[in-house]
Amino acid sequence: MGLYEGIKDVAKIVQQADNVDLYRKLIDLSAQALEMQNTINNLTQENLQLKQVKSLEEDIERSDKLFVTRKSDTNPDKLMYCSKCWDVERKLVQMRKNNGEIHCPNCNAYDIYDESKHKTYGISIR
Ligand SMILES: [Zn+2]
Repeated sequence: MGLYEGIKDVAKIVQQADNVDLYRKLIDLSAQALEMQNTINNLTQENLQLKQVKSLEEDIERSDKLFVTRKSDTNPDKLMYCSKCWDVERKLVQMRKNNGEIHCPNCNAYDIYDESKHKTYGISIR
């Protein structure tokens, strides 16, 4: 039985007892119980989101460049995400790669991730 159904059942019994004070107390307590249930639901949702962020944090690999990768990414050419967006907003924004350079489409962070490719092409995407 859920909280709301339980309150309704008790309210019926209290109504039959014809006790106005008891009925008012039940209404007050019911409002508090439903408010607490709402708080629990919000905290449960927030807790789930925090667990998801924590799980992602444990999966992040840092580098000396302006990108992070994920440990769970088993591709030899791992996706690169902007370390600034991750640090500030906890968002994984995939970096755009071009000629040894990387660029974040969200915050415009820029870095060279492959010196040899960059020297070969030497074209800036900034
Ligand atoms: Zn960024």
